[in-house]
Amino acid sequence: MGRRRSLESIDTLVIHCSATPNGRWTTPEDIDRWHAARGFRRDMSISPHDSPGLLHIGYHYVLLTTGAVTMGRPEIESGAHVTGHNDHTIGLCMIGTDAFSPAQWETLCRHVTQQQQRRPGIRVCGHRDLSPDRDGDGRVEAHEWLKICPGFSVADWLAGGMTPLPGHIFAAGGST
Ligand SMILES: [Zn+2]
Repeated sequence: MGRRRSLESIDTLVIHCSATPNGRWTTPEDIDRWHAARGFRRDMSISPHDSPGLLHIGYHYVLLTTGAVTMGRPEIESGAHVTGHNDHTIGLCMIGTDAFSPAQWETLCRHVTQQQQRRPGIRVCGHRDLSPDRDGDGRVEAHEWLKICPGFSVADWLAGGMTPLPGHIFAAGGST
């Protein structure tokens, strides 16, 4: 169950994908049902008026295929999205797997920029970057990814100035 936390404890933004077919309409309510099935539960006493219809969702934000971003858990409540790191992170889920609409890329840029302005120095990474470093060499390598989430390299996206990553842009008929 989610726990109340101080907003000052947040130092990392973790980007996820919903692992649904690229471009397919999927809603926070869908994710709420999946997370209910996994046993996730919010503590609705923390902030009862935030997303009152989503009692289970583990993410703080969901980025829809239209580019709209909707709220899941309030930031004041710890999420349920990355084992071992829920207390100090915010979880954002992009609908899709490895190709996202231009509007989604645009919103991701705006959302991350806003977080960086609110929280100077915040780390921005992908879920897969927080997989355990099993061989202990100090780097999380491809063979150590627990799951390929999200379906692109957040580090490459940041290094490219937050422009849409080639090969990961969804267009009707396929990715480009
Ligand atoms: Zn994930």
